[in-house]
Amino acid sequence: MSESVYDLIVRGVAAARSAGPGSKEEARFYLDKALRRDDAEPDQKARAWMCLSQIEADPRKKREYLESVLTIDPGNGSAHQALAMLDGRLKAEDLIDPGSPVEPVRPAEAPPRSEVRRPACPKCGGQVSFDVDRQSLACSFCGEPMAGQTIEKQADPVKEQDFFASLPTAKAHRWELPVERSLRCDGCGAAFLLPPLHVSGVCPFCGSAQIVTAAVDGLIQPTAVLPFGVDGGEASERIRAWISRERFRPGDLDRGADVDTPRGAYLPFWTFDLGGTMSWHAMVEEGRGRTSRWVPRTGLYLVYHDDLLVPAGNLLHSEFMGGILDFDTEGLVPFSSDLLAGYTTGIYQVTLDGASLVARQRALHEGSAHEKKHALAGERYRDFVMNSSGLVVVSYKLVLLPFWIGGYRCRGMAFPAAVNGQNGAVAGRVPRNGLQKILARFWGQ
Ligand SMILES: [Zn+2]
Ligand SMILES: [Zn+2]
Repeated sequence: MSESVYDLIVRGVAAARSAGPGSKEEARFYLDKALRRDDAEPDQKARAWMCLSQIEADPRKKREYLESVLTIDPGNGSAHQALAMLDGRLKAEDLIDPGSPVEPVRPAEAPPRSEVRRPACPKCGGQVSFDVDRQSLACSFCGEPMAGQTIEKQADPVKEQDFFASLPTAKAHRWELPVERSLRCDGCGAAFLLPPLHVSGVCPFCGSAQIVTAAVDGLIQPTAVLPFGVDGGEASERIRAWISRERFRPGDLDRGADVDTPRGAYLPFWTFDLGGTMSWHAMVEEGRGRTSRWVPRTGLYLVYHDDLLVPAGNLLHSEFMGGILDFDTEGLVPFSSDLLAGYTTGIYQVTLDGASLVARQRALHEGSAHEKKHALAGERYRDFVMNSSGLVVVSYKLVLLPFWIGGYRCRGMAFPAAVNGQNGAVAGRVPRNGLQKILARFWGQ
C-alpha cells in the first residue's frame, strides 16, 4: 500500500485550502481516492465529505456531502450549520464573529409609552387578568372575557426552534444586563420602577398590569407560555398545608408561621429536545478472588429527551426550585404578552449556548446513571467513561413557566416558599440562616 488514508486526506484538505489554480480538482482527486479505500475509518470519511462540501458549488451535491457527514456523525455542528445556511434558515450576516466577544445588551431605562402595554377591558376599562378557572383573560371588574383570548391547547401548536440555525448567531450568546426600568402608568399617570430583569409588573399606585412589549434587539424572544392552573388563593392554601407537613422540623413552625400572599410570576426556562446515541466503555471484573481479571466492556445508550428544562433566569435559586420543576409542557401555548397581565415576568440570564451545555451535561449524567444501574447491575467495574459526541440537540424553545412565589414569617424572620403554578407542588425552606436572601432577591429589595 502506497499512501495511507490519513495522508490522502491531509493532502486533499491542504489542496482545498490553497487558492492556486486547479487546487479544487487536486483536492477532489485525493479526497475521492481516500473515500474509495476500504480501510477508511468512519471519522476519516466524515472529514473527507466535510471538506468536499466546502469546495462544492452545486447546492445539490453540497447537500449530499453534508448529509453523508451527518449519517456518520449526527452531532457534527459544522455540517448542521452548513445545511442550515444552504436551506436559508441561517444567514451569513447573522453568524457570530469568533474574534469579537458578544456583549450583553442594555435595555432602555425608560421605555417609551408605545412599548408598554396596559391591557384594559374594552367595555369598562377595568383591569384585565388571567382567569384560572376559565383559562381565559377576563376583566377583573365586570367579568367580561376577552375575545380571542381563551386558551385553546390544540389550536395553534407551539413550534420547536431550530437549534443548529440559532447556535452560531450572536443571539444564542447574548444576555441582558440587569437594569431598573422606570415606567409611567397610563392608568393613573404615576411613575414607578420595574425591578431589574423584569418585563412585567403591576403599578403600585393603581394596581394595573404593565407589560414592556418592546423586544430587546438581539435577544431571543419567548416562544410559549404555560398558563397558570392554580390561582393565588389555592397557592396560599398549598403553602399552609406544606408548613403543617413540615412541622416536625422546628417544633412551633405551623403555630408561629404567618403566610404572605404569594405573587404570581412567569420565569424563563429553555427547553431542549435531544436525541442520538452515547457510547461507553469500562473495565469490568470477571471471575472471583485470585482468578478474577479486568476485561474491557463497551455499550451504547440511546438518548431521547423531549422538553428537557433548563432554568434560564436567576430570580429564584435553582436549588430551591428543584422539587417543583415537574411541569407538563404539553400545556404550553404560543407566547402572547397579554397573558403576562398582572404577573411578574423574568428575563433570561442564561444564554442559549450556555443552557444547551447544561442540557447535554444532564443527558450525559442521566445516561451514565442508567447504564451503571442496568447494563452493569451487580458487577464490579472501574474507569467508566461515557462519550456524548453522538448526542444531538435537535431543537429548543424559550418558555415562560408559572410560579407563585411567597413566603412566611416565623419568629420574626421571613422564609421563602414557591408553588408550581401549574400543578400546585410546593418547595420552601424551613428556618435556617442566610435563606432570607433568596426571598430578598425575588422581591428585588
Ligand atoms: Zn370590564
Ligand atoms: Zn397606575
